[in-house]
Amino acid sequence: MSETILSLKGVEKIFGSFRALGPVDLDVSAGERLGIIGPNGAGKTTLINCITGVYAPDKGSVHFQGRDISRIEAHKRARLGISRSFQIPRPFTGMTVLENLLVPLDYCHVDGSKAERAHAVLASVGLSGRTADASETLSQLELRKLELARALVGNPKVLIADEAMAGLSDEEIDEVLEILFALNRSGVAVIMIEHIMHAVMRFSQRIVCFETGRLIATGTSAEIADNPLVQKVYFGE
Ligand code: ADP
Ligand code: MG
Repeated sequence: MSETILSLKGVEKIFGSFRALGPVDLDVSAGERLGIIGPNGAGKTTLINCITGVYAPDKGSVHFQGRDISRIEAHKRARLGISRSFQIPRPFTGMTVLENLLVPLDYCHVDGSKAERAHAVLASVGLSGRTADASETLSQLELRKLELARALVGNPKVLIADEAMAGLSDEEIDEVLEILFALNRSGVAVIMIEHIMHAVMRFSQRIVCFETGRLIATGTSAEIADNPLVQKVYFGE
């Protein structure tokens, strides 16, 4: 395995008196494909929010490339190279697909022109034919692709995809997986939070399973499928 790019130590998030997450220790390697699974309410999105800076953890630390980023703001973490796509895509309405990328590009540093960068990213997710179309005309699959494109404009080193395939058909899931595999081949670490088990198992080199805010299992896809704790969480005793 290559070097650790992202490292969580003792991370906890507490809402009122309810501990939604933690304590969690988790290291992610540069260029890794990591899957995160767990039932609804397990703390997966809260974990992502602690990594991306929506929340500061109440306890513990998040290091990125050796630097403590636990207390820095979300847009600065994004600029360092941590990006995420949202569970529910919300494109800017009244704008074209291309314009939807030019908005986040205003906050990024890019070599060359922003329009060129936007076109290149749209091509990488298979939306080249739709650049001039209104975002309202996109299908569910195309909305997911635009959401990924939006997360990719800043050239991240880590992409966190929060349920990027929910509601898609098997063929559409394959398309999104192929985009994420290609991105990973270009060197980007991809953290996939996903309920679609066959997709996350096919994609991930390593899977971690959360339940009630705790990391309860780690392993390869085969190990996770055979793990009694994971089976208990998903299928009962
Ligand atoms: P998952 O993404 O695994 O479904 P979440 O991280 O969204 O789980 O939620 C974990 C737990 O924390 C849930 O019980 C949820 O209701 C609670 N929670 C999440 N965000 C908040 C918040 N902002 N305020 C209070 N409780 C929250
Ligand atoms: Mg969630």
